[in-house]
Amino acid sequence: MIIGVPKEVKSDEYRVAMLPVGVQELTRRGHQVLIQSGAGVGSGLPDDEYATNGAEIVPSADEVFANADLIVKVKEPMAEEWPMLRSGQIVFTYFHLAASRELTQALVETGIIAVAYETLEGSKGDLPLLTPMSEVAGRMSVQEGAKYLERPQEGRGILLGGVPGVAPAHIVILGGGIVGKNAAQIAAGFQADVVILDINVDRLRYLEDIMPPNVNTLFSDRHNLEEQLERADLVIGSVLVPGGRTPQLVTAEDLKRMKPGSVIIDVAVDQGGCVETSRPTTHSNPTYIIDDVVHYCVANMPGAVGRTSTYALCNVTFPYVAMIADGALQKKAGLSRAMKTAINIWEGKLTNKTVAEEFDIHH
Ligand code: NAD
Repeated sequence: MIIGVPKEVKSDEYRVAMLPVGVQELTRRGHQVLIQSGAGVGSGLPDDEYATNGAEIVPSADEVFANADLIVKVKEPMAEEWPMLRSGQIVFTYFHLAASRELTQALVETGIIAVAYETLEGSKGDLPLLTPMSEVAGRMSVQEGAKYLERPQEGRGILLGGVPGVAPAHIVILGGGIVGKNAAQIAAGFQADVVILDINVDRLRYLEDIMPPNVNTLFSDRHNLEEQLERADLVIGSVLVPGGRTPQLVTAEDLKRMKPGSVIIDVAVDQGGCVETSRPTTHSNPTYIIDDVVHYCVANMPGAVGRTSTYALCNVTFPYVAMIADGALQKKAGLSRAMKTAINIWEGKLTNKTVAEEFDIHH
C-alpha cells in the first residue's frame, strides 16, 4: 500500500503523524511511504531522517493526497485539504466529527473511509489513542499553572513547592482520571500540597494507594468544592462525563470565593469546560482574567510540546497504521473491534451513530 503523511496545516499544530522508525517498519513490510517535505520539522524530525529510513520525500500536500491509498494525519482534514481527498481513500486521524456539521458533511461527500483515533476502542472499552494526549495535557497543566502563578504573568506570585519555612501552593484537581492523575503526579513532584476531587470512590481509593503523602483525595460534592476553592492557589479542571458536556462545577459566582491571582487551568475546555467562565483560548493568547482569577483554557495543549506529543501519539497509533496498511479494512465482514469502532465514515455513508443522530445526517 502507499501510505502518505502530509504536513499538518492547522494553526499551532507542531505534531506529525509518523516517526522515522514507523517508515522503516512499513517499508520493511513492503509498503511505500510518502512524507511531505517539512512534515516533521515542528517535532524536530528533518526530512533526511525520514529519507534514510526509506521514505520518499515529496514537495507538496497535493502529491501526498493524489498518490496515497492511506493518509495518516494528526488533526481533522482542514477545508483546504478537502478537495484533495479521493473517494475510497482511507484517512486515519483525529476527526472529532461531533464538533462540526460542516466537516462531517464535507467528508461524507468526498467518499473517503474515515478511521478516527478518538473513537477507536481497546478490548476493555478504553480509548487507547486518546490516553497519551490526556497524559501530556495533565502533566503540562502543572507546568503552565506554575508559570501563570508567577507575578509577571499576573498570578499570586507563588512558588509551587514553597521553601523551608514557607507553605507550598495548594493545588485542587477536579476529576482524577487520566489528566487528573498525571497532573497530581507532577504537582506532587514539585512538593505542592495537592487535593484530587472525584465522584468515583473506587478511583479515589486507587489514587490514594498510588500517590505520595502530599496528595489527598476528597469526594467531589458542593460542600468540599466550595471549601477547596477558598484555599486554592491553582485549580486544574479535568472532569469528563463520557459522551456528554462537561458539568460546570465552578460557577461564575464561585470566582469570588477564590484568592486574587489564583489560576484555573481548565483542561476540560475542549468538551465545554468545568468552569462556567471558561472559553477556549490558543497558545498565542492562552489566558484571560475574570474577577482577578487567571483562566488558562487552551483547547489543544499537547500541540505546544509537539515533539513529546508526536512520540506519545505515534507509539500508540503505529500498530493500527501497520494493520490498516497490511489490509485490516479489506475484508469488511471480518473487521476487528478496534477497526469497527474507529470507522466513522465509509465511502459516503456516515457510520458513527452518535454523530448521525446529532446532525440528522443519514445516507
Ligand atoms: P477521564 O475519563 O480519564 O477522567 C475524568 C474523571 O472525571 C473521571 O475519573 C470521572 O469520575 C471524573 N468526574 C466525573 N464527574 C465528576 C464530578 N462531578 N466531579 C469530579 N470528578 C468527576 O478523562 P481524561 O482523559 O482525564 O480527560 C479529562 C478532560 O480533559 C476531557 O474533557 C478531555 O477531553 C480533556 N483533554 C483536554 C486536552 C487539552 O488539550 N485541553 C487534552 C487532553 C484531554
